[in-house]
Amino acid sequence: MTARIRDYLRTRRESGDDTEALLVVDLDVVRDNYNTFAKTLPDTRVFYAVKANPAPEVLALLAKLGSCFDTASVPEIEMALAAGASPDRISFGNTIKKERDIARAFALGIRLYAVDCKAEVEKVARAAPGSRVFCRILSDCVGAEWPLSRKFGCEPSMAADVLEHAHKLGLEAHGVSFHVGSQQRNTNAWDRALAQAAAVFRECGDRGINLAMVNLGGGFPTKYLKNVPSVKSYGSAIFRALRRHFGNRIPETIIEPGRGMVGNAGIIEAEVVLVSKKSEDDDVRWVYLDIGKFGGLAETMDESIRYPIRTPRDGGETGPCVLAGPTCDSADVMYEKQPYALPVSLEIGDKVLIEGTGAYTSTYAAVAFNGFAPLKTVHI
Ligand SMILES: *Cc1c(COP(=O)(O)O)cnc(C)c1O
Repeated sequence: MTARIRDYLRTRRESGDDTEALLVVDLDVVRDNYNTFAKTLPDTRVFYAVKANPAPEVLALLAKLGSCFDTASVPEIEMALAAGASPDRISFGNTIKKERDIARAFALGIRLYAVDCKAEVEKVARAAPGSRVFCRILSDCVGAEWPLSRKFGCEPSMAADVLEHAHKLGLEAHGVSFHVGSQQRNTNAWDRALAQAAAVFRECGDRGINLAMVNLGGGFPTKYLKNVPSVKSYGSAIFRALRRHFGNRIPETIIEPGRGMVGNAGIIEAEVVLVSKKSEDDDVRWVYLDIGKFGGLAETMDESIRYPIRTPRDGGETGPCVLAGPTCDSADVMYEKQPYALPVSLEIGDKVLIEGTGAYTSTYAAVAFNGFAPLKTVHI
């Protein structure tokens, strides 16, 4: 936790304003993260994945620092524009777009689109003629704590056909993209994907289409309970893989960090609503917080992301707890299969700090499930 967040939370407590869970994001940490990405991968353009935290304060800061933006919808495009990014610094990176949204993006000046099949290419060709497209290829996401399934991307063997189709329809076949899975703790995950990307470059080259760009996606981790490699080790692993697969004809590259840009910048202060047992001789206590899966902690789904949790009673004896949210849905349980060790002295009313919550929390909160308001958020 940064000194600025600690001071902010102390002031809030002293003013008695701490009645609801709150996410506090320290913009200085976001600035440091951006500078680290820019310095570590100097030949790569940074497209911040807006969905990770679309707060106007975050977008305005990143726009000022020179970042580009990866967006998934017209509202995200409009937010990036409102933050001060020019259209040439914005990509429409969702492979699943309504044709009328592509037309709207085109009218707003967006000229860079993701595709992963011929039908999507045809939409872009009609609604955004002459634009650049990159084809997303599937990735197996091995090593990722939040893998991305087969929903996005095509088999690498199909990508050249998709890009050739784009070329024939008057689009600029610009390159290849992939995402190695979110919270990717293996720095070598990019190697296999880059081998496949290089094969698509060769196949397109044989067909007379010269691709220029590889979009290396996101996946850069935030430190939760386990340690993660530094951005520097990701940078050197990626550079080695580029050299291995592209030789001395290294393409233009972009990265799309989301979690790695904002995850460690945020902390949620929450309150213990209830501590109970299901029978007198249970070893495991149930701890209910005023935030859960519907209040912003959706990434605890399948217990994938395990957040570090600090309590005012740390240091003493701990015991296993099931950790749950406050709503009346039985799915609103965060950690049960693998119980969470918390101090045995933890009490109703205690404030707990959930760390590493700057990404994928605020906009994941339900609008009013059970009447609970969406997660309150402040950027300092
Ligand atoms: C979500 C997303 C990202 C960001 O992923 P992180 O793992 O948070 O870095 C990047 N690119 C695309 C296309 C995405 O959908």
